[in-house]
Amino acid sequence: MSTYPGPVRIDLHTHSTASDGTDPPGQVVRDAAAAGLDVVALTDHDTTRGWAEAVDAALAVGVALVRGAELSCSADGVSVHLLSYLHDPEHAAILAETEAARQARHRRARRIVERISRDYAVSWEDVLAQLGPEATVGRPHIADALVARGHVADRSSAFRHLLSSHGPYYEPYAAPDAVTMVRAVRAAGGVPVLAHPRAAARGAVVPTLVIEEMADAGLGGLEVDHRDHGEAVRRRLRDLAAELGLLVTGSSDYHGTGKPNRLGENLTAPEVLEAVEAQGELPVVRG
Ligand code: AMP
Ligand code: FE
Ligand code: FE
Ligand code: ZN
Repeated sequence: MSTYPGPVRIDLHTHSTASDGTDPPGQVVRDAAAAGLDVVALTDHDTTRGWAEAVDAALAVGVALVRGAELSCSADGVSVHLLSYLHDPEHAAILAETEAARQARHRRARRIVERISRDYAVSWEDVLAQLGPEATVGRPHIADALVARGHVADRSSAFRHLLSSHGPYYEPYAAPDAVTMVRAVRAAGGVPVLAHPRAAARGAVVPTLVIEEMADAGLGGLEVDHRDHGEAVRRRLRDLAAELGLLVTGSSDYHGTGKPNRLGENLTAPEVLEAVEAQGELPVVRG
């Protein structure tokens, strides 16, 4: 018997001010309920610092919460985002890797700002002013500083040139190997799902061979239904997931007012969530 009778709206990828979203974790959860979602996952970049506040909000508004994170990884020099659901946040390997990634992001953001500041009036202090408490820093915060300084209209315009991965100021950051991180997530009792595997607009995408290696290492699923994937890409990814025995998820990658992505714009099937919960160490929080 299904745990979820009737139509269920499930969005498995959102960000709060614990990373580069614009709304605090509790607000993301309340907005998810207001948007008619039954289940929402909070998946901030390289941190679980938003979980506690999200849990309180989920219990208060009666939306189910999947505790997760989006882990920075790399493979063959390509940036890879690995979603982890329902893992033990105290697991040593995950903690060490996420804290290292956060520090690498911090150093790298300072270098990007340093470069931009040669051509535009903007300082590291301007970026700090845009950052939530203990937030994982990212280019979106630099974008916010550039907006505050009046250099660009919004985050999207900042990413078109100044912050583009093909642009003159870009700098990558060191992140753990994606295949190794799949194993670490499983060791921590989590369910690893490859985020937006074919989001070409962000830069180079991970080769299929690496996805196969990740699948061998214990990858649980592919995030297929995502706004950065067109219809043809989604069809190919669905075929690949079927071939490799992976779950297929869909989600908004909501970042508050920082991106056009709307809560619930892509959804995950209830039976996929059931499989995720069956594999995960932590329960889904149900209000
Ligand atoms: P970083 O993590 O510092 O490499 O920056 C990448 C982050 O910027 C991703 O998490 C995206 O959510 C965000 N991002 C990428 N492109 C855009 C865009 N065009 N507008 C707003 N945010 C973006
Ligand atoms: Fe982001
Ligand atoms: Fe991502
Ligand atoms: Zn994301």
